[in-house]
Amino acid sequence: MKDAIEMLHDVLARQRAACLASPWPELKQRVRDLKALRQALSRYQDRLVTAMNDDFGRRSSFECRTLDVMFPALQIDHALANLQRWMKPQRRRTDLLFRTNTAKVVYQPKGVVGVIAAWNFPIVEAVGPMIMALAAGNRVMIKMSEFSPRSTAVLCEMLGELFPQEQVAVFGGGVEVAQAFAALPFDHIVFTGSPAVGREIMRAASANLTPVTLELGGKSPAIVAQSADVTAAARSIAHGKAFNAGQACVAPDYALVPRARIDEFVNAARDAFQHMYPAPVNDPEYTSIASDRHATRVNELLADAIAKGATVTPCGTGDGWRVVPMQIVTGVTADMRIMQEELFNPILPVVACDSLDESIQAITARPRPLALYYYGTDVGEIKRLEREVHAGGMTINDWAWHVFQSDLPFGGTGNSGTGSWRGPEGFRALSHGKAVLSMKRWFPIGLFRPPYGTRLQRLVSWLFLGKPDPALCIPCPHAALADGAATPDINRESA
Ligand code: NAD
Repeated sequence: MKDAIEMLHDVLARQRAACLASPWPELKQRVRDLKALRQALSRYQDRLVTAMNDDFGRRSSFECRTLDVMFPALQIDHALANLQRWMKPQRRRTDLLFRTNTAKVVYQPKGVVGVIAAWNFPIVEAVGPMIMALAAGNRVMIKMSEFSPRSTAVLCEMLGELFPQEQVAVFGGGVEVAQAFAALPFDHIVFTGSPAVGREIMRAASANLTPVTLELGGKSPAIVAQSADVTAAARSIAHGKAFNAGQACVAPDYALVPRARIDEFVNAARDAFQHMYPAPVNDPEYTSIASDRHATRVNELLADAIAKGATVTPCGTGDGWRVVPMQIVTGVTADMRIMQEELFNPILPVVACDSLDESIQAITARPRPLALYYYGTDVGEIKRLEREVHAGGMTINDWAWHVFQSDLPFGGTGNSGTGSWRGPEGFRALSHGKAVLSMKRWFPIGLFRPPYGTRLQRLVSWLFLGKPDPALCIPCPHAALADGAATPDINRESA
């Protein structure tokens, strides 16, 4: 342990020295690095997929390949297409008073970025922020989750082939190492994980005044409106719950469905799940619950709901342990744990909701979610959700697809996170936008220098401020003090 923590400090010191030696990686070098990374993702795809499968016990190879490997590759393509523009200093207007000078914002690399990843999409949560950090010219240290040791090993090997540790370094280890990692004086931390640990990260970062991007979780609602095609909505929500077995930060957590259509919704969702996974136990493309600890929690959540009067509709046969088909829960009440905690598994609570107002009330009564889904065609309702309900992002008539658009920021709000490492917003978050004003020789700087009270200074003040109100022309207290008078007591009522 001591060695692991010493190693963190050593690598940070070396990365810092490298930043000082080469503070501004040129466009060419950034492009070269990103292209090399893209090629490596392609070469290593099978090994990465196998490692993630081994970490989970069983994980869909299609989902591993598309989300964890192809998605970062597409993110690189987007960065390559935009990097020159993002890096270019941005000209800004000077204020009228300073019109003859020039102003710009220079996007300077912040320095060393610390990335802390969760286990559910171990590669994308490590490599995604790293891509943007490298694009912005930073060095990167990555702390992987203790639940993904095999993915960590392959990622270490792959990145070790491409980058010296002074540029990119990957670390495994348990929570103690993660705590020591979060306490390092990075120039920025990108954390992906739970709101509870997010608070710990923010606390640790505050000691160093390190800025943070927190990609957290929460209960993302799916509204099935009166205008919805219930079968299509149920199919989409079932996919959201089955993808990675619901172990996704943007999985629909619970569904809000008109009371009269709940049976239709439950039947359609069960049929949709069974159509996708007729035999989940033997289906290598149906992902298992990632660990015994998480499987125990699934059973506890269901037992709690049943004990409090809920009805559970299993959508297939599992293995009684870590292979858990979607479990639809009806008769849900607010005191059940499934309505109090982020689920992060294939349990789908269905809550009766007969109007948009009722849905909005149910959503805004909870902490702000990471994602919000609306199924329906009512343009007025969509507009209200866009404007009135806080959520990290929204997809209309499906789930999660807003997350896969490289040009959109992705991040939470309030309890579901802060900031984003994706898209143009991500580049800016991992750069320092330095304001640079260039003063020209012919600018009449004397306007602002003593001796004060010249005619020109009074004219400028009059032009920009206008005349003072004579009724408010009280004697200046400082002038009185200078004359040796007593300090005026501003709290005492005038006689
Ligand atoms: P977690 O918060 O338990 O752990 C996340 C990471 O933090 C791990 O690498 C872990 O080792 C580390 N960690 C744990 N305790 C720490 C501490 N005290 N100090 C520093 N680091 C610590 O989360 P998890 O179980 O790995 O992932 C599930 C959560 O992550 C869910 O809430 C989910 O919604 C969220 N998540 C969010 C996103 C997103 O992009 N917004 C993506 C995936 C997962």
